[in-house]
Amino acid sequence: MTAYHPLTEEEAILYAKGIPDLFQSDTKLVSREIGDGNLNLVFHITEPDSGKSIILKQALPYAKVVGESWPLTLDRARIESETLKIEAALCPHLVPHVHLFDSDLALTVMQDLSDHVIMRQGLIERNRYPLFAADIAHFLAHTLYYTSDLGMNQQQKKIQLGRFINPELCKITEDLIFDDPYHDSSNNNIDPRIRDTVEQLWQDSDLLLEVAVLREKFLTHAQALLHGDLHTGSIFIRPDSTKVIDPEFAYYGPMGFDIGAIIANLLLNFAAQEGWSPDETEREDYRGYLLETIKEIWTTFDREFRALWNEHSTDRVFHTPGYQDLYMQNLLQDTFGFAGAKMVRRVHGLAQVADINKIEEPAARERAQRIALAIGASLIRFNRQASSIDDLIDIAVKSA
Ligand code: ADP
Ligand code: MG
Ligand code: MG
Ligand code: MG
Repeated sequence: MTAYHPLTEEEAILYAKGIPDLFQSDTKLVSREIGDGNLNLVFHITEPDSGKSIILKQALPYAKVVGESWPLTLDRARIESETLKIEAALCPHLVPHVHLFDSDLALTVMQDLSDHVIMRQGLIERNRYPLFAADIAHFLAHTLYYTSDLGMNQQQKKIQLGRFINPELCKITEDLIFDDPYHDSSNNNIDPRIRDTVEQLWQDSDLLLEVAVLREKFLTHAQALLHGDLHTGSIFIRPDSTKVIDPEFAYYGPMGFDIGAIIANLLLNFAAQEGWSPDETEREDYRGYLLETIKEIWTTFDREFRALWNEHSTDRVFHTPGYQDLYMQNLLQDTFGFAGAKMVRRVHGLAQVADINKIEEPAARERAQRIALAIGASLIRFNRQASSIDDLIDIAVKSA
């Protein structure tokens, strides 16, 4: 089974049996494919005798999108497994353990996290996760600091950057986030109820200019190794544990793209409470929780990132008076802009989110879409004026 081909469930079992020191010899294994099958296969393999389990994630050589498929490099599986290993070295408790990567089959064998839930679903159910803000802030501070010029040898960083050139996956982001939502692209999926508002965005020259600047940063600003797809569907969660999965979009890009992604997804759920909260008190309550979480993410990230910088950056120039404050200010502003761009594309672009799309009542869904668009567009327009995370909270509160 060395030449690449998508595995069947039976082949996945055979493969798992061949992994040294994992399962008993001559054991019975059960396999279930649990991925959504758009880009990757995900096999959940269990040994009923012992209760042991494992995940095999295999990249498919194409992406299925709206009935069609386009070819997509298998190299993203290497990028994903290498990124998981770098993240594990920096924050082992926040990612699944990788047992092995098989480059021939574009297959990663990793820890089974089925005792967690996907965070998007957890938020739709209005659960609260007391450790989440501190955990994700720690993940962001450590992965972004230690893969940047601040936290690693600058020659080594340039070499490392070369292992994370991910042009095909970046192209998906460049098109679906920074281009299609801003013109009448066939990739969009516009609910007719909000078409008027979407068309207004296409005429908003201030907004379009900011999107062009954000796209340029995404294209050119190789600041740190990003996760690249850090939405709430890439986070497995429990009240006592946080695990980040699925970094197949990883590349060297602007840090604010990852921070903005997670904040955008919390704000999409904030908007979606129109359809999920049974009454206004409940809605306000949960929205308050989401905004507190966002504030705690930024303030904890800011504190930890500065502490790493102060303790570990040996480069004299990085300690130029005023430089750190300016750097963090730019990072906050990028975070606003990318969060806004991440929100807008999820309202009327190609791949949308269950938080909004699963709202059954059309009027509530429309309200949620309009709130999400209003927050997203405001964050984009305002991004270069941001001076505090409170500005973002104000924008969210005013738009709801
Ligand atoms: P994709 O890139 O196709 O989105 P993901 O890595 O996000 O793949 O995995 C898709 C789904 O497979 C997840 O939403 C989750 O349900 C399941 N899954 C992925 N990794 C694991 C894991 N380590 N443990 C348990 N389930 C997993
Ligand atoms: Mg998926
Ligand atoms: Mg995923
Ligand atoms: Mg993925």
